[in-house]
Formats: sequence, C-alpha cells, structure tokens
Amino acid sequence: MAAPLTADRLLQALRAEGVRVVEVGNWRTHNRNQKGAWGPANGSIVHHTVTKGTASTVAMVRDGYASLPGPLCHGMIAKDGRVHLVGWGRTNHAGGGDPKVLDQVVAESYSSRPTPPTKGNSNGVDGNAHFYGWECENLGDGKDPWPTAQYDAIVRVQAALCRAHKWSAKSVIGHREWSADKVDPRGIDMPGLRADVAERLKHPANWNPNEEDPMAGITKKDIFDAVWKTDALAGPTDAGDHGTNPTWQAQSILKDMQARIRSMDRRMTAQTAAITALAGQVGTGADTATIVAAVEAAIEHAVIDLNMHTKET
Ligand SMILES: [Zn+2]
Repeated sequence: MAAPLTADRLLQALRAEGVRVVEVGNWRTHNRNQKGAWGPANGSIVHHTVTKGTASTVAMVRDGYASLPGPLCHGMIAKDGRVHLVGWGRTNHAGGGDPKVLDQVVAESYSSRPTPPTKGNSNGVDGNAHFYGWECENLGDGKDPWPTAQYDAIVRVQAALCRAHKWSAKSVIGHREWSADKVDPRGIDMPGLRADVAERLKHPANWNPNEEDPMAGITKKDIFDAVWKTDALAGPTDAGDHGTNPTWQAQSILKDMQARIRSMDRRMTAQTAAITALAGQVGTGADTATIVAAVEAAIEHAVIDLNMHTKET
C-alpha cells in the first residue's frame, strides 16, 4: 500500500533519471481529488493522445474537454522527449479497468503481459486512484512514429517511478492492458518497454546508455596489468626464483637491470683504478707487495668515491 509520491519527490526522481521536465502552471495542485480517492499508488499507465502539436496537446491534457475535465494525466511526454507536468493527484486518465489486472500489477505476478482485460470504463474498477498516468504525443494511427527522444523519456519516467517506489517494471502497463475499451499506446510494445525499464533499473538513475563510456568498468589495475603483466615478460633466467616466474612484472625487471648496471659500474671503476695504479708503478722498481697494496688502495678509494656519488653505502 504505497502512498503516492509528493510533487517534490516526483520532480526529484524525474530529474535524477535525466528527464527534461517542463512544469506547467499550478500542476502541483491541479487534480480531481474532490471527485475520489488518490492512492494507494500501485502502478503507472502509458497512453497516446491522438493529437499532433505539443502546445495544443499540453493544453488539452491540462484542461480536458467538455465531457472529461482535466487534468487528463500527470505528465505529457512530447515528441522531443520533454515531459510537461500538468497535474498531481487524482487525474482523469485511467477510467475503469479490469480488477484482475490491478491484482496482477499490485503483485507484479504476471509473466510478459497481464491477462487481457475483459472490463473497461462501463464495468471496471476505478484506475485513477491507483495509477500514475502519462499521455504521449502521438496520432495513435499506427503510422505516426515514436522518436527515440520520446521513447527514451517514456522509459526514464517509468523507471523513475519504479525506482522511487521500489517497484519492478511490471508495475508499468499500457492503457490497453488495463481497459478492454482501449488500444493505446498504439505502436509501443509493452513487454519491450518493460524490458527497457527493467534494464534502466539495473543501473544508477543517471545512466546514459547512448553515451556509454567505452572505458566504463576498466580499473587502473586492469590497465597496469594489460601494459606490464603480459606473457611476453618473464624474469631474467639468472634471477633465481623470478627467472621461472611467468608473471614476473616489468617494473621488477627494470629494478633488476638498474641493480646490475650499478654493479657493473662499480666493477669498471675498480678496474680503471687498478690499471691506473699499476701504470703508476711501472719503472719504480717497487716489489710486488707494494704494487698490490697501491692497487688495492686505489680500488678502495675509487669505489668509496663512487658509492658516495650514488648515495649507496
Ligand atoms: Zn489512454
């Protein structure tokens, strides 16, 4: 038994879902509450208007006509995808419908479609208390197209309501699924629409499937692994256990190479110092022990000097 959303909560839910909203006049308090119940909210009904032209359609669904006073829905979803809010509360959109359909929507118990209705305006139960209503600008002749922007807005509006009420997409039906007297919304496949609403509900409200980021879901670690951790890399064969480790990472190989270069640098420095020291002993007549001592001293001095420069101790 869900209380209907407040006008503020509806606006918040629609905007979070990425719906472009147009607030028309006193829509928050424009309703038929003096004529009957509003709530519990049990679902949402999609309609077509049998009209052409957004401005005249908004005026018609807001004001109604002689035999049926407005508002005739809560929002009018135009061809361009804008949703014109014209009323909030009880509105004249659902009329009478089949009570077993209401039961199936409340329980969200049907499979792909509710049981086809056998009751309508003359002998059905009041739907205006139980359903949100969305009139969609379309001629309803089976030829007038449903532009992508409009269809996308229909999906978003229904998803916003389902998300706010924690309903599944089975709380969304077409007028023809509610009333035996109706054919709307003609050209919209209701199981397909419910599937699209259900898909939206798997994502956060701000999901934009048409602008999906090709890098979505890829983490920094995925990128790092793709670049550095490949089968082509393996540790050096003389690097102990790492040499046979196929997942040895490239940064470890770089560290290993750096260590080897430092070590080579040290040995070359020592050799150069030794040769220089030897050359300095040529022709001095010094004995072997003296020459060895001079060479060792030169090596030690050179390596200490190198270590100081590389800040290694
Ligand atoms: Zn209808």
